[in-house]
Amino acid sequence: MPDYKDDKKDKIPQNDHKSEGQIRAGRLWAPWRMKYITAVAAGDEEECFLCANPKAEDSPDNLLLYRGEHCFVIMNLYPYSNGHLMVAPYRHESNYLNMTPEEIAETGELTKLCLQALNKTMNPHGFNIGWNLGRVAGAGVEEHLHQHIVPRWDGDTNFMPILAETKVISESLQESYQRLKEAFDSLKRKG
Ligand SMILES: [Zn+2]
Repeated sequence: MPDYKDDKKDKIPQNDHKSEGQIRAGRLWAPWRMKYITAVAAGDEEECFLCANPKAEDSPDNLLLYRGEHCFVIMNLYPYSNGHLMVAPYRHESNYLNMTPEEIAETGELTKLCLQALNKTMNPHGFNIGWNLGRVAGAGVEEHLHQHIVPRWDGDTNFMPILAETKVISESLQESYQRLKEAFDSLKRKG
């Protein structure tokens, strides 16, 4: 599945979806993804957000949740589901075969941490975990490897419940970030 491609000059995603408030969810599963689709259609060239976002301090603006030694955890700005997380190496690498043993091992450890944090905050009934390698497989950002972790709930009909306005979703993303950040921080303290 594609993930977000931000169209901001400074490469740090801003939570400014309120302007899209007129887009109703009646026909769209994930109306907040319109910005992503529009950016892709426009063919915007920009720095890879998986390289740019870790350079900024953790905040709801860059959606950084946890920093490991070789890999980090970030929320997806255009999620398919509430709590849609990604684990990625800091290194700008597109080929999974070039992942180092350390990166592969830490991706596994951070995946466990993600499940713990999501269990603690959102009580999901299940998860989809996986990699989209290459555009044909649905990779939105194919030049920088990342693993998706998508929490699932009974009756979620594949995606998060349809909300009336994107404004609500924007606030939901911020709120989710705060709750998840606290969970990751407390898990980190427990070591
Ligand atoms: Zn990158």
